[in-house]
Amino acid sequence: MAKVQFDTPELKEYPEVPPLVDGAMDHSSPYFASPKHQEDLGFPGELVENWEAKAVEKLGELLEKNRALRVYLDSCVKCGACTDKCHYFLGTGDPKNMPVARQDLLRSIYRRYFTLAGKIVPGLVGARDMTKDVLDEWYKYYHQCSQCRRCSVFCPYGIDTAEISMAAREIMDHVGIGQKYCNEILGKVHVIGNNLGLPEKALINTLEELEEDVEDETGVAVKYPVDQEGADVLLITPSADFFAEPHIDGFIGYGKVFHQAGISWTVSSYASEAANFAMFIGSYEQMHKVSNRIRKAARDLGVKRVIFGECGHAWRVAYSFLNTLAGPWDFLDPKYPVPQHILEFTYDLMKRGGLSLDPSANDDKVLTFHDSCNVARGSRMGDMEGGQFFIPREVIKRSVNKFYDMPADTIHEKTFCCGGGGGLLTDDLLELRVKGALPRMEALNYVVEEYGVTHMAAICAICKSQFSKVMPYYGFPMHMIVSVHQLVSEAILLGDKE
Ligand code: SF4
Ligand code: SF4
Repeated sequence: MAKVQFDTPELKEYPEVPPLVDGAMDHSSPYFASPKHQEDLGFPGELVENWEAKAVEKLGELLEKNRALRVYLDSCVKCGACTDKCHYFLGTGDPKNMPVARQDLLRSIYRRYFTLAGKIVPGLVGARDMTKDVLDEWYKYYHQCSQCRRCSVFCPYGIDTAEISMAAREIMDHVGIGQKYCNEILGKVHVIGNNLGLPEKALINTLEELEEDVEDETGVAVKYPVDQEGADVLLITPSADFFAEPHIDGFIGYGKVFHQAGISWTVSSYASEAANFAMFIGSYEQMHKVSNRIRKAARDLGVKRVIFGECGHAWRVAYSFLNTLAGPWDFLDPKYPVPQHILEFTYDLMKRGGLSLDPSANDDKVLTFHDSCNVARGSRMGDMEGGQFFIPREVIKRSVNKFYDMPADTIHEKTFCCGGGGGLLTDDLLELRVKGALPRMEALNYVVEEYGVTHMAAICAICKSQFSKVMPYYGFPMHMIVSVHQLVSEAILLGDKE
């Protein structure tokens, strides 16, 4: 595929609804999964015979299984409230990136085959036959939705475009048209245990070297254990935490927090991945399989509790579905929530005086915080309403002296996606990622100019990777994005307790 040339959108002082440009992103399409990547997940290797009927049949099956999907497809009144709420529309001006238009790509097929009006007078109700043109359009535009659910916050009926996008991707996988990035990664998780294909030996070596580096730097023997049987805590964290920047700085911070808490912990080489890309492709079966690795690791290692590291969609899957996917977790210590987020753990320790912190260690930085979509709109944290907004900010504010939030309509439940979520964090979608980051970059630019913000913290591995890549396109240095536990790591006084 030839490299696409594109212009980075201009940062405006106030966000503007872009002029409509028909077909502006019609060329954007991710690489297809190879037959092997498809077959590794039990999907057909290529477009099956009679695929039109099979796609419709699969949609019928999903409508039976997921009643919400039928409600979403039935209840849109075309009020238009969602049209300017998607970051991909705001960044590209392509009308098919308006959430309602994205929904209609599948709704038109639903109407044609599952409603009376669509069967009798298809032209009058926007119903279309399932054709190759429709399939091609699905492949392009359902891979221009990061399943961030921002549009659903503004829809008076709560229609969740993410669910529709997941259903479309699942149908495509079942007729033999999958996306390379997600499906290849899932195959690696099933065989090796993590997205990167990092084998046990390499993981052990990496963490041994990390221990040495941290001891050299701090003079304290902080442990980063792998496969330690009988540890109190199994840490399930995105594999990017083991080596990528700024993820690893957060991982170093988790180890320091556990060290100060005096709690034994371990990662597992068998389940060395928090991410569960099966959610992005809408596959319950795959999601179940990935989650079961975590259950097996927790059982085999005999831990008492399971804690998740900084990963947005992993936390949504864990918080919302882990019990039904891989429960019951009755072999863990019932004193602790299953699962628990590392931020809940750290915040609890801070509240109880278990950590000594010197926020002036971060005085070279002025912070803001990016709420990750799947944490903000797909989960909670702690035992309070809005904990997913409050706890990360509280941990940051105890670790730094200078913090400013971005404008209110771009944070909390109205946060904008980083532009790389939902299985789109791949270089074959770079133009989409850069343009989709526009609303977040505008909000960041506001606090940079108003308050001199120098760094933006996040608690999602995808957000961190996406921002490192796209920030330079907007004139921000890539090191502006930091992990929340990186700030804790800088501020923590090892050896002391409050
Ligand atoms: S879920 Fe997010 S990416 Fe998808 S249409 Fe809605 S706002 Fe856009
Ligand atoms: S806001 Fe909801 S009801 Fe209104 S057009 Fe969008 S999806 Fe349809």
